[in-house]
This record gives sequence, structure tokens and C-alpha cells, in this order.
Amino acid sequence: MTDLSERSSATGRMQSGRSPRATKRASARDERLNNVLVAHPPSWNGLLEALPEGTALHDGHGIIHYVNGLLCAMTGYEREDLIGQNVQMLVLPRLRKAGKRARRNDANAPANVIVSGAELYMLCADGREIPVEESRSQLALDSGSWVVVAIRDVSAQRASEKARADAELRFRVAFENNMAPMTFADADDKIISINDAFCQMVGFTKEELLGCDSTPFTYPDDVGITESTHLRLISGEVEQERYVKRYLRKDGRVIDVEVSRSPARDEDGKIRYFVFSERDITEERALAAQLSHQALHDPLTGLANRALFEDRLSQAHGRVVRQGGIGAVLLIDLDDFKGVNDTHGHFVGDQLLTAIANRLEQVTRTADTLCRFGGDEFLYLAEGLVSPAEAEVLAERLIKVISEPFTIAGSLIEQHASIGIVIWDATCTSFSETIQNVDAALYEAKRNVRGRHVVFTPTMHQRAVSRFALVQELRHAFQAGELAMHYQPIIDLTTSEVVGFEALMRWHHPEKGWVPPNVFIPLAEQSDLILELGSFALREVINEASMWAPHSSMSSRPYVTVNLSAHQFLDPGLVPTIKNLLSESGLPPSCLILEITESVALIDIAETMTVLEHLGTLGVGIALDDFGTGFSSLSYLAALNPRIIKIDQSFVRPVHESSRNDTLLETIISLGQKLNMTMLAEGIETEGQFNRLRRLGCELGQGFLFCAAVPHDQVVAMVGRVLTN
Ligand code: C2E
Ligand code: MG
Ligand code: MG
Repeated sequence: MTDLSERSSATGRMQSGRSPRATKRASARDERLNNVLVAHPPSWNGLLEALPEGTALHDGHGIIHYVNGLLCAMTGYEREDLIGQNVQMLVLPRLRKAGKRARRNDANAPANVIVSGAELYMLCADGREIPVEESRSQLALDSGSWVVVAIRDVSAQRASEKARADAELRFRVAFENNMAPMTFADADDKIISINDAFCQMVGFTKEELLGCDSTPFTYPDDVGITESTHLRLISGEVEQERYVKRYLRKDGRVIDVEVSRSPARDEDGKIRYFVFSERDITEERALAAQLSHQALHDPLTGLANRALFEDRLSQAHGRVVRQGGIGAVLLIDLDDFKGVNDTHGHFVGDQLLTAIANRLEQVTRTADTLCRFGGDEFLYLAEGLVSPAEAEVLAERLIKVISEPFTIAGSLIEQHASIGIVIWDATCTSFSETIQNVDAALYEAKRNVRGRHVVFTPTMHQRAVSRFALVQELRHAFQAGELAMHYQPIIDLTTSEVVGFEALMRWHHPEKGWVPPNVFIPLAEQSDLILELGSFALREVINEASMWAPHSSMSSRPYVTVNLSAHQFLDPGLVPTIKNLLSESGLPPSCLILEITESVALIDIAETMTVLEHLGTLGVGIALDDFGTGFSSLSYLAALNPRIIKIDQSFVRPVHESSRNDTLLETIISLGQKLNMTMLAEGIETEGQFNRLRRLGCELGQGFLFCAAVPHDQVVAMVGRVLTN
């Protein structure tokens, strides 16, 4: 090893290419340094050991003569492992050729050449490869030419460079290639970077937008949104902003965009950039609007649905509580709408509903709410009424507008409606109570004459409650055996003999006594209970009538007539049930006559004809009940061809006796006779009525004059008897 003073002279040689002034300055410094070194001569070893880099000294052939401790620490070799070895042992095998070449060049280089910064990997004792930076310098000493190799471990630097490169790559991927539109703006909101997705969203090119603020693509009315968020972020009022604003695309289309905007701050907390991430929510908003419309509207008519109505009612209630006043809820129910569906089909039914909805919309205020409440029911919420009478005028207007004929799919259809009205004010709070009350009013409106309106009164609620209670009791009555069939004799008006009976249902209520069928049958008809009652009646009647023997004076057995409700008549199970009951009981089919009213027969005339055909095949007869109270369509009368026509009591016992009534009764009787149908007069109470009917040629009759309906045990004794009074 040589002394450092020799190295210092070598350093002096290395600086030989400098300017005269610099050389002068340097030599003055060297001289000072030399003086210090002469005064305090360090050992070369000590100096090399103090160097902050791993250092090796090798001869021109690469044979290591010296290594410092740091290099040993870096490589994991002991000093003895390295000294005397070729530096190639520290070079990766794949780089050894290049290393050799470099050393050869070093050897040929002028003595003061410094090679530095070469980036290499160094092979450690344990096989690890560590990235290093190497600087080599030629050192010409008296003892020969040496190469000083200084090696710096740059693992940490490389790792941080790699991390930076990775971060840049990630950013590029996240920004440039991101499918989400993004922009960077400077602290003044001027765009400095923009990705492709953003350009696609707004239809501008990068060149058109870089350096601009957001004005070119902001919908003019929304420019203020951007400015205010900018101010809020700059002032530090908020850390981040998320807002929706409209963008104006280059092609003129307006889109809704959700913008997230965050500031990027420097170390001093000053805003350097703004990062914007945008999302086109136009379709999402349109879909949400469509979904919410669907959720709140009836798909057929486009009117509000029940949920929206409920909401509007509660808002209206809030207004009435604050401001006072009254409003009204109208429940509009189409009379016999089922007939339209059955006659013209559901397609026409749907079109009629839509046409009605349109008409209602035309005559109502847009501020009020019109709702399709159910199949053929509409609700109308009227606000700000001056008086309850106003609601009644409105109801009449709605009834009138509905009753004007509709032309649908080429058919002229007449439809009528009944309306229940509830007047409400601040005291009325519950939606369900309002609906209950308006329902009760509608029930009253439909009860007798249809096509009218009724305003709710508390007694209606009472009646609705008792109706409900009665239905519950009826279910119980049915199971408790409180129902029975009674029989009213049917008289041959010529002989006054009992030839048959009409079966009439009776309910003996434990507290109320006899409840008339006019009260409980219509209630049962509103639910499936009527089917249970109906099949009970058929079973009882067929079984009981099968026990009736003909009187010796009679040529045939007495027959029994049974009333059928609409539900029962249109029930597909009716014909098979009757067939079974007849065969089980042994009652001859000709002894059974089913009573249907005209309105039941006309619900679905095609279906009626099919049922009648099946019943005819069984041998069961039909009686047309309450004739004269319905449509009394003569063409249908011929088509239905009933065995018996039962003339309604209103013709037999007219409120006012008159010659016109007489003529009417006469005409009905002669019509039946001409059509070859047996005429039966209902509700004969007086001798006079009886005689007149007999005179007019009416063959059969029933009425209190002869006998009211009696329990079954009294029937047998009556068969064939002559009942006059
Ligand atoms: P409807 O079929 O027209 O029966 C005739 C009604 O007139 C019976 O009333 C009968 O008691 C009553 N009546 C008979 N003669 C006279 C009279 O001289 N003067 C007066 N004022 N009335 C008379 P009821 O038994 O109260 O039945 C009423 C209605 O209830 C029946 O009218 C029928 O539509 C229905 N109904 C009765 N039983 C049944 C049944 O088992 N099933 C079905 N679906 N309906 C039934
Ligand atoms: Mg009847
Ligand atoms: Mg009748």
C-alpha cells in the first residue's frame, strides 16, 4: 500500500487540464492539504476505511490488493476472501465479459481518467445481487498503476426510483386509461390535464379544452355551481365537493353529470391542483325518474296509483291543518263494468278504462289528484273547496261525463258510474279511515239506484260496521246450522193446487231472530261466501225435494225452484254439482228448476247459453225471476227460452192501480204465452190480484194469499192441496 501523499500528487496530475487560475487555486489548496497531511500523516488504510463507499484497489489485471470494511459488509465477504482474488468474482457472471472489457479500456486510458456512475449489479457472498454504482479511477503510483474502485449500494435509491416509476405508471393507468372521465385543473380552475373518457363524454378534443376553464362544456345556467364550489374549496370551507350539474356537449346535447372535486395541496397546504372525477348520470336519472313514475302511477291509465294518492292526501291534510278549509275524496265506481269485459273482452275493457281516465282528467283540475284505485274504481282528491255542495256538483259532472257514450274498437259502449264522497278537514287524519268512509258512501250510492252520488255520514260508517259484523256472523251461522231452506208453495191458478215450491233461504239469528235473505244474500254475494251458501241451498233442496211424493190427485211430482246468484250461475262447478246431487238423491231432473234473474243471465250471454245448454242436457229447467225489473230484452228472452217466467211483484201489486198497469201485465202474460213459456205471478196477496191474474190467463202464482214460505216439515202435507186463502 502506498502513502496518501503519493495519491495526492496523483490527484494533482489528474487536475492538469484546468485553467491557470483554477490550477493556481487548486495547487494552493493541495499545498495546504499537504502541509496538514505532512503534519498529521494518516495511514492510507485509515483513509480508505473512512470512505463512505465500498472501496477496492486492484492492479490493472483486476487482482484485488485492498478492500475496505464497507465493501466487505456490502458483499458479505471477509477481507481475506477478496484480497488476491480477481474483481470479477464480484461481477455477475452474465456481466463479466463487459467488466473485463471495461477494465481493459481503463488500463489503456490515460492515468487520470475517472470512470464513474456505471450502474451494475454486484454479486454478494450469499448469491444476492445488489444494484450498485461504481466509479473507477486510475491511480499511477511509483509502485505501479492501480485502479481504485468505489462501489455504492444503490438499492434504496433504485427502490425509490422504481416506486416512483410504478406510481407514475399507476397514475397513467388510473388517469389516462380510466373509463371514468377525469380532469386536472390548476388552482385557477384552468384545465391542465384531461383523459380520453372525459373528451368522449363532452365531445371536445383535448386540444380544445386544455388551458380553458369549464365554461365551454358547462350548461350556461349551471356555471355558478362550478364557481361556488371553487370558492368553497379555496376558502377551506369544505375539503371536497360532490355536486350535480348539467354539461353542454359540443353537439349541443345536455347531460347530467355528477362531479367529485378534490384539491391537491403542496407541503404548505396551498392548493396546487384540483382533481375532478365526473360521472354521466343522464340515463341513470332518466331511469330513476321512470322507475319512480312507474312506482307511483297506474301503468294502464297513467293516473296516480294508490301510494301516490295516499301521499298527496297526507300533503293536502298538512295544508288544511296549516291553512284551514275543506276538501273531498270521491270514490268513483263503474256500474257493472264486468259486463263490458265479459261482453267485449278485456282489451276493450282496458281501452274503456283509459278513455274514462282521459275524460275525467279533462274535467278535473290538474292541481287535484286523480288516481286509479282498483280495477274499475277511481279516486279523486279535491282540495280547497268552498263548501261540501261543491263536491256534489263535481260528482254529478263526473257521473255525466262518464255516461256519455264511448266508441271503442268500433263498438258504442254506455257506461255509468256511482260515486261516494267524503268531505274532509283538519280533523280527518287517517288515509284508511277516509277510504273506509268513502267506500261506505259508495256502498250506499250503489245500493238501490245506481248512477248517483252519496255523501258520507257517520251513520253509514255504523251501517258498514254492522254489515261487516253481519258477514262475520253469517260465516258462523253457516257453520252453526242456523241456516235452513223454507219453501213457498207455487199454485196452479186454475185449480188452486200446490204444484211446486220456491226454496227460500232463512237465517235464524240467535239474538236478532229471522234475518231476511234480502239482507244477508247481497252481503254474501260480495265474497266467496255466496258459493258456500249456494251449494248448501242446492244440497238441502235436492235432498229434501227428493222426499216429496206426488199427491194422488197429481199427474206429476211437485217441482222445486232454487234461486241462483250470479257467482253461482257462472261457477264452472255448478253443472257437475247438480248432476251429482241429482244422481245421489234420485230427484228427477225435471223436478228441479233454477231461478236466475235477467241481470245474471245477461252478465255473459255466451257463457249463459253454454250453462243453459248443459242444464238442458241434464233435464233441469230454468225460471226467469223478477221478470220486468231488468232489461226485459225480448231477443234475449227468446234465446234463453226459460220454462217459467216469474212476473215480478211490482206488476202484480203495483203501487198505483191503473189501466196502464193492467195492460202491462196483460201484455207480459200474453207475450209469455205466445213464446210458449209458463207464466208465474209473484207476490199475490189479494183475491182481486188472484182473480185478475187468472182472468188474464196466468197459469201459476205464489204469494201470501196462499202461503208464505214454510219449513220443510210442513211441505209434505201441502203437496197437491188446494190453497185458496
Ligand atoms: P225472490 O226469488 O224474488 O223471492 C220471492 C220473495 O218474495 C221472497 O222473499 C218471498 O218471501 C217474497 N214473497 C212471496 N210472496 C210474497 C207476497 O205475497 N208479498 C210479499 N211482499 N212478498 C212475498 P224472501 O224470502 O225474503 O227472499 C228475498 C230474495 O232473496 C229472493 O227474491 C231471492 O232473490 C233471494 N233469495 C232467497 N233465497 C235465496 C237463495 O237460496 N239463494 C239466492 N241466491 N237467493 C235467495
Ligand atoms: Mg226467486
Ligand atoms: Mg222474484
